[in-house]
Amino acid sequence: MSDYSFETLQIHAGTEPDPATGARQVPIYQTTAYVFKDADHAARLFNLQEVGYIYSRLTNPTVSALASRVAALEGGAGAVCCSSGHAAQIMALFPLMGPGLNIVASTRLYGGTITQFGQTIKRFGWNCTFVDFDDLAAVAAAIDDSTRAVFCESISNPGGYVTDLDAIAKVADAAGVPLIVDNTLASPYLCRPIEHGATLVVHSATKYLTGNGTVTGGVVIDSGKFDWSASDKFPSLSAPEPAYHGLKFHEALGPMAFTFHSIAVGLRDLGMTMNPQGAHYTLMGIETLSLRMDKHVANAKAIANWLEADPRIEFVTYAGLESSPWHDRVAKICPKGAGALFTVAVKGGYEACVKLVNNLKLFSHVANLGDARSLIIHSASTTHRQLTEAQQVAAGAAPNVVRLSIGIEDAADLIADLDQALAAATA
Ligand SMILES: *Cc1c(COP(=O)(O)O)cnc(C)c1O
Repeated sequence: MSDYSFETLQIHAGTEPDPATGARQVPIYQTTAYVFKDADHAARLFNLQEVGYIYSRLTNPTVSALASRVAALEGGAGAVCCSSGHAAQIMALFPLMGPGLNIVASTRLYGGTITQFGQTIKRFGWNCTFVDFDDLAAVAAAIDDSTRAVFCESISNPGGYVTDLDAIAKVADAAGVPLIVDNTLASPYLCRPIEHGATLVVHSATKYLTGNGTVTGGVVIDSGKFDWSASDKFPSLSAPEPAYHGLKFHEALGPMAFTFHSIAVGLRDLGMTMNPQGAHYTLMGIETLSLRMDKHVANAKAIANWLEADPRIEFVTYAGLESSPWHDRVAKICPKGAGALFTVAVKGGYEACVKLVNNLKLFSHVANLGDARSLIIHSASTTHRQLTEAQQVAAGAAPNVVRLSIGIEDAADLIADLDQALAAATA
């Protein structure tokens, strides 16, 4: 299957006609549990000696189909689906972390992630050091003996900044820790972080993977390439697991160790499970991922260029613009385009931003992105509200900027809407 091109994999990977009914589309297996063939079969499943379905908190055929498809699209060995993008981040860190351990993360992240890493994970005894990922020496210096992962976004929210994944992967590699990349804004069509050295990839499936604002979901994809036994830093994967009769996940399962651990221990005990109906919607969305991403990128380019030339605008952060400091990275990291999310600084500051948002007719004012519809939000008063002004500026969400998530409508209609709303905002 992995020999096929992306456009074929996005429709076929992970699925075949239903063995019981011949159903061509992936059925929604709306079931909690699965009948064991006999007591011996049940025992083998519970011992991880045989792979099969037990209980839908762990695995479900619809959800497994989605996991296999996303793993194929990202070029990973395996994947696990979760109830949200935020759940995926915790699920990615869970096998690596423990009290007193830390991660090193980019300052340029989704606002909710800065809150999750900066505050909430402290309750588990985990810590996060935030650094500028363009300063490779600072990233290396922030990694210490207690660091268990380096975390960044390929294209980052809200500014559309592009991370030099190859350079960061080298730093993580030299320190013997995995690089985790949140690939939500790029999708595997625009960027494949594993090819740039990432060990784990996480997604909010809520966004482009589903693509129409109907689902909350997440996915963790493992490259299968990290040597969890090279040091004693990752005992969950390299040391005997008491709850599975002393099984060593890495030794027994090789490149599938992380994925099996995420299901057998992570989903079993944290319960951040994706529901089969959500998985079905995301599978439907992925069938058109490449078509949508091409249109998102074409529209984003047209609109960013128009805005940049407009006298009512101070600056546009889109990495796809010739003027962007990240422009050279686009060709290397996301050659099919820099996504469709960026910020715009409006002359007239906070007041003008609020008026712009209020006067748009086609753009919806919502806290979401990656929808077929075009969306706008004033980050400083919403998604990034919990941050200090210094953190807002560092994250690219200063009070004078709005964030646009460009949809797949007609670009001329979107430009006309922005034009009339900017006229009202700056009158
Ligand atoms: C939305 C988002 C998340 C969180 O995902 P949820 O599905 O909302 O939990 C994480 N990272 C990025 C880049 C996002 O855009």
